[in-house]
Amino acid sequence: MRKIIVQKFGGTSVADTGKIKNVAQTVIREKKNGNDVVVVVSAMGHTTDYLVKMANDLSPTPSAREMDMLLSTGEGVSIALLAMAIQAAGYDAVSFNAMQIGIVTENVHTKARIINIKTDKLKKNLAEGKIIVVAGFQGVTEDGEITTLGRGGSDTSAVALAAALNAERCDIYTDVEGVYTTDPRVVPNASRLDEISYEEMLELAHAGANVLHPRSVETAKQFNVPMRVRSSFKLDNLGTLILGVNNMEIYKPVAGVAADLSQTRIVVCDVPDVPGCAAKIFGKLAEDNISVDMIIQSYARKVSNTNDIAFTIDSADTDKAVATLNQLKNDLHCGEIQVNKDIAKVSIVGAGMIDRPGIASTMFETLAKQNINIKMISTSEIKISCLVNKEDAHKAVKALHDVFELGCDEVAEVKGDLPPV
Ligand code: ADP
Ligand code: ASP
Ligand code: MG
Repeated sequence: MRKIIVQKFGGTSVADTGKIKNVAQTVIREKKNGNDVVVVVSAMGHTTDYLVKMANDLSPTPSAREMDMLLSTGEGVSIALLAMAIQAAGYDAVSFNAMQIGIVTENVHTKARIINIKTDKLKKNLAEGKIIVVAGFQGVTEDGEITTLGRGGSDTSAVALAAALNAERCDIYTDVEGVYTTDPRVVPNASRLDEISYEEMLELAHAGANVLHPRSVETAKQFNVPMRVRSSFKLDNLGTLILGVNNMEIYKPVAGVAADLSQTRIVVCDVPDVPGCAAKIFGKLAEDNISVDMIIQSYARKVSNTNDIAFTIDSADTDKAVATLNQLKNDLHCGEIQVNKDIAKVSIVGAGMIDRPGIASTMFETLAKQNINIKMISTSEIKISCLVNKEDAHKAVKALHDVFELGCDEVAEVKGDLPPV
């Protein structure tokens, strides 16, 4: 039986028609290897950012449904253009959006999860020898409503398609040569990793290494889909393989460093120190589909018998979260709600830190030497995260990358600009 390879190309890789022609050649190269090919593409260049900006020019709070109607159009353009480019190069290709295939998601706008992918149409077209080009990032509910999977979600579309089709591999083609020890735009001598485990990649992606959408790694792990992150521009480089386990013993405690600049910290002040308050706060946020990341509850103050509950969320959810908390205020009998967007989460990740003492203290000392104040700390078995001022994020990443000796002698080739602080 022929193998199926799923390839995904991000926005930079399809930024103009010249680049789309190159992508067509990469797709054809895989087809010539004797494989069936399903290609997932993102919107061209910065199209999605541009669409978001237009929406915000018209309304401070555009409805989530209309945002999905708008943002899903970006991928509609790139799939048709890529299918045309493949056809022009002499190969049979057909493009489909999520509705045509049946990439069925839950009924949630702007960050829907995929429930199921119908494969009949895909299998039929592959059997006819066609290269299939699929719109990433979008889905459709059982009721026929258009949804999107969250920014960067085309990676998840690709892995979910690979899982549904039992594909041999999912190749994520992007503007860097693989997964690095940190964002090479922040630290130019970051080292490319040949391999990384699903667990470490998942933590790195959640920590802000936006080279992969976290849910793509989650899906790959769940369905055991081998993933490769590789360069759209240097095809002979194999990039980074993301797979089940790390080889043998791990010698370096830290595999990578990441910063997430899109978090907001919320503090609910003077919450009565009685059972049920935290459950009320986080239960209500969960009902509104708002994910909470770091959480700290202070000791109860003796006189007032109240404490403060601080937590972080994705900045995009700030207005919704504040509205929800304001509604709860009377019921909770709490004090003011403080919001701080000028923060960033800086994390170190590595399976090698399990049972190795001193890693956290090295992280805190390194930040202290840089005069960086830590506002919150959270840990998992293989990750330590510190919340810092946003303006300190890149300085913190550089210092941590240095102290854990992650650099190499080469300078990575990068296409984009430094992420804004
Ligand atoms: P695409 O448009 O192909 O989906 P993205 O911009 O989403 O590309 O992801 C690629 C970018 O991720 C790179 O340009 C790089 O700056 C950034 N990045 C952040 N952390 C890492 C990391 N650890 N390894 C590689 N790239 C990273
Ligand atoms: N076009 C979408 C975005 O910019 C999805 C993606 O690129 O993965 O977020
Ligand atoms: Mg991306």
